[in-house]
Amino acid sequence: MSRIAIYPGSFDPVTFGHLDIMQRASQTVDELVVAVLENHAKIALFSVEERVKMLKIITKDYPNVRVESFHGLLVDFAREQGAGFIIRGLRAITDFDYELQMAQTNRIMAPGVDTIFFATNLEYAYLSSTTVREVASYGGDITKFVPESVARAVEEKIRDRYS
Ligand code: ADP
Repeated sequence: MSRIAIYPGSFDPVTFGHLDIMQRASQTVDELVVAVLENHAKIALFSVEERVKMLKIITKDYPNVRVESFHGLLVDFAREQGAGFIIRGLRAITDFDYELQMAQTNRIMAPGVDTIFFATNLEYAYLSSTTVREVASYGGDITKFVPESVARAVEEKIRDRYS
């Protein structure tokens, strides 16, 4: 049976930290589904469609990575996709409480779906989408944090928003 994993997140925008997890996770499973959450509780910079498009561009060279969007419960989406695993990244101890709680809850709801944590590459341990949005909103250079195509899209979005 093929091992399918879901890597869910907001990816608003996707960073080198996310990309590092995608690369490593895709090497450990047969198929990795990167899943953009339609989360109405969060005010987003990019629409879900824009995020999916950006993710598709930067993952185009990974043959076993697919990009989708989803709403509702992650475990329902995992079941729908036939996935047995959820991938999450752990940056620091501050991520741990919340991530563990979510993993335990998901496992109770869907015993057949296990969460796998990847320890963030130290190089990106400081990096978050929030920081990227903040730096960009003040006109800072974000090319050290996100791929070139994403940096351009963020800059354009912020220019439109504040002009
Ligand atoms: P969410 O809103 O669900 O936290 P994010 O897009 O912020 O979505 O993150 C998705 C996943 O990627 C989470 O598991 C998060 O811990 C992980 N992640 C976020 N930033 C990094 C990073 N710099 N390095 C590695 N993993 C990261």
